[in-house]
Amino acid sequence: MEHLSVTNAQQCILESVKKLDAEQARLEQALGRVLAEDVRANRDLPPYDVSAMDGYSLRSADLKNVPVTLAIIEDIKAGDMPGKTVQAGQCARIMTGAPVPHGADAVIRVEDTQALSENKVQINVAVKPGNDIRRRGEGMRNGDVVLTAGTEITPGVTGVLATVKCARLLVYSRPRVAILSTGNELEDMDDPVDPDKIPNSNSYALMAQVQALGIEPDLLGIARDDPAELEEYLQRGLKFDVLLVSGGTSVGVHDYVRPIIESLGVQMKFWRVAMKPGHPVAFGITAHTRFFGLPGNPVSSMVCFEQFVAPALRRMMGHTRLYRRTIAARLTHDLKHQPGRTEFVRVTLAKEQGGYAATSTGAQGSGMLLSMARADGLMIVPAEIKGLEAGSVVTVQLLDGTVFQDEAGFKE
Ligand code: AMP
Ligand code: MG
Repeated sequence: MEHLSVTNAQQCILESVKKLDAEQARLEQALGRVLAEDVRANRDLPPYDVSAMDGYSLRSADLKNVPVTLAIIEDIKAGDMPGKTVQAGQCARIMTGAPVPHGADAVIRVEDTQALSENKVQINVAVKPGNDIRRRGEGMRNGDVVLTAGTEITPGVTGVLATVKCARLLVYSRPRVAILSTGNELEDMDDPVDPDKIPNSNSYALMAQVQALGIEPDLLGIARDDPAELEEYLQRGLKFDVLLVSGGTSVGVHDYVRPIIESLGVQMKFWRVAMKPGHPVAFGITAHTRFFGLPGNPVSSMVCFEQFVAPALRRMMGHTRLYRRTIAARLTHDLKHQPGRTEFVRVTLAKEQGGYAATSTGAQGSGMLLSMARADGLMIVPAEIKGLEAGSVVTVQLLDGTVFQDEAGFKE
């Protein structure tokens, strides 16, 4: 099979995955999921013209020669319905969100007035009709589509759904994901520490990557490099929508995943991608399952998950934004690169005048998981280039947590 570029491999995967069916969810459980239906407003909001300020509702025509004294005929709070019509020379005291009474066409905020007595106020400024009035239906109009299918449910969207009283809504289902690690050398979490073994980190790092997408995966444990045992585990894994297998996809004599997964009816799309880290990454399909063979090296496993698995899972959940956000950053040092493979370099990011500075986390071995734990992002080094000089503008894919920073971006 051919040596695919990262982009071609991503394309190949996305051609083989589609949105899952929709299901009902309660609004309380919907954060991070994707709407599978259009949602319409069920009323006008605000339901009538309301005041945008605490102040006085009045007739703007009365303000030709300010300051002017007006008679206060009523007190209108949010939730009250005005009982009187404002006539020439009159006004009504009004609170933010309260309905503007008949006759009034503007609001003057309290700061631009001077109370003279309980029922008299001096207005100090002139305004145009409509001043500080929020119009009926300005926020949303009854019957209008306010959210379309495909919208990710963020806190803001949740607020809109609550506004239109969507206690239950249709969202796309989440894929059922199984994670299997392979290798005789592996020691699992509950096993006693054996200094000759390698702790199984991949199952848990992958678990967390899946959880970060809002999916609770099933951990199938560790399969030994034994054809019969591996077959049993793989069969179990192929009952899921997505099966992630860590390790054993290389060309070592004990890398049995490839022959067995094919014997179980998985149609392989690719086994290799021209990338670093993460060379031996595989993808195949059955009628119901998407199979990913991820490299055993811990960094490679995580990087391949980000490039290939995350976009596929997000598509299945109905998302249209599939890839991690990238930013431009200034590289703080020279970087060597051997042309041929797209490289993902773990970097930290520091805010600087006008943007970000990217610095390698240090040694980039594909077994050095601490480099991943320390990274803010993955710098993408294009396959064909020979290296980068300090000061170059580079592309960095943001990893978890990078939407937050240490300091506020403003000074008070
Ligand atoms: P493999 O892809 O099976 O050839 O494994 C490549 C390297 O990754 C070897 O050094 C393995 O010990 C290591 N490795 C494989 N699976 C895991 C795992 N689940 N957790 C941590 N390291 C692993
Ligand atoms: Mg192995």
